[in-house]
Amino acid sequence: MERYDAIVVGGGTMGSAAAWALATRGARTLVLEQFRHVHGRGSHGGQTRIIRHAYAESPEYVPLVLRADELWRELEDTVGTQVLHRTGGLEMSGPGGDHARSVRRSATEHGLPHEWLTPDEVRRRWPVWDIGDDWEACYTPGAGFLTTEPSLRSLRRAAERLGAVFREEEPVRAWEATLDAIDVRTDQGVYGAERLIVTAGAWAGSMLAELGLPLTVLRKTLWWLAVADPAPFVPERFPVFIAESAEGDVYGFPLHDEPGLKVARHSGGEPFDPDATDRIARDEEKQEVVPFVRRRLRGVSDRVTSSAVCLYTVTPDHDFVVDRHPERLNVVIGAGFSGHGFKFTPAIGEELAALAFDPAHRPYPRLAIGRFAVAAPVG
Ligand SMILES: Cc1cc2nc3c(=O)[nH]c(=O)nc-3n(C[C@H](O)[C@H](O)[C@H](O)COP(=O)(O)OP(=O)(O)OC[C@H]3O[C@@H](n4cnc5c(N)ncnc54)[C@H](O)[C@@H]3O)c2cc1C
Repeated sequence: MERYDAIVVGGGTMGSAAAWALATRGARTLVLEQFRHVHGRGSHGGQTRIIRHAYAESPEYVPLVLRADELWRELEDTVGTQVLHRTGGLEMSGPGGDHARSVRRSATEHGLPHEWLTPDEVRRRWPVWDIGDDWEACYTPGAGFLTTEPSLRSLRRAAERLGAVFREEEPVRAWEATLDAIDVRTDQGVYGAERLIVTAGAWAGSMLAELGLPLTVLRKTLWWLAVADPAPFVPERFPVFIAESAEGDVYGFPLHDEPGLKVARHSGGEPFDPDATDRIARDEEKQEVVPFVRRRLRGVSDRVTSSAVCLYTVTPDHDFVVDRHPERLNVVIGAGFSGHGFKFTPAIGEELAALAFDPAHRPYPRLAIGRFAVAAPVG
């Protein structure tokens, strides 16, 4: 039987990062991925992800994202590939919303650079924005976007240089843990390890069925819409944005590699079986973003140049699960990234590795599994 210090189940976003962190610590690491490394059936499709530091969801996430930002840059230096594009971020709320204020609160608490802008200032600086006089806006220069495929490929390359082994198209069928050893079974054989890291994304619920984690998989659509004139939408001129509006919580990116402007809705989404093979966005679903775009963004049409389907795996409180298995302390879980995990990826990888190999390392309380009524902790 091949033996490793650590086996990672799921070589997607968090699994690739865990491999880098584990290999950096000198752990002999095997990553088992059911599809090809980087694919469109999980949660990392759709080309780009927003990174922002002044975290509206909670200031508690700020240290984690700052660490991730540092590690993304370290990864770029290590591999020699750019993954982070700093464009600034414009986060706005329509009447009754508090997203922009929450951004300001996080920025203030952590001393992060930010500008509180009046609607007039927004319209003057970015004339494509047509927000109302009753809107609020916070601009943060540290925000930007990450490109998913180069990110995952770079994480893998950095991990492999340190000896990690990635096996593709090898789904894990079962695993069994005793106090000091773990066996992992695939169709190709059985592998042994001291530690297991489960980063199975939309499949985490079935992989960890015995825990009954409250995870819901949601089907989300992404849209690239044609622009009349690309000039105001290039990364140097158009910051990534999030808008809490009467037409939904919509976010978007400057032009990058595609002719259209990428826009999507964070709110909503239908429950979905990740084993279903259909990943086609139906044209009528563009109505999730078109009313917002039509009302608020000048120069963007409702003609779709491209679309994609991607999966969120959400927890009831939208906070992640990054912790040890409550019954098997040599098993570590990274799951439930609730549609906002990508920016944190290398820092989550580091956390997973620390939880696996440092007995004294405590999980972030906000991300601890004990907040759910799952199986009782050991001891
Ligand atoms: C539409 C969309 C937009 C998003 N926007 C943002 C954003 O702007 N900013 C941000 O920070 N985050 C964003 N996110 C969230 C972020 O992309 C996810 O949180 C992150 O990719 C989740 O990573 P993961 O490793 O859990 O899942 P994945 O990357 O899907 O990896 C899980 C892997 O496990 C594999 N696997 C599962 N079961 C097995 C098995 N039995 N054996 C072997 N392999 C297995 C899967 O095939 C998959 O490759 C967005 C997500 C989506 C879907």
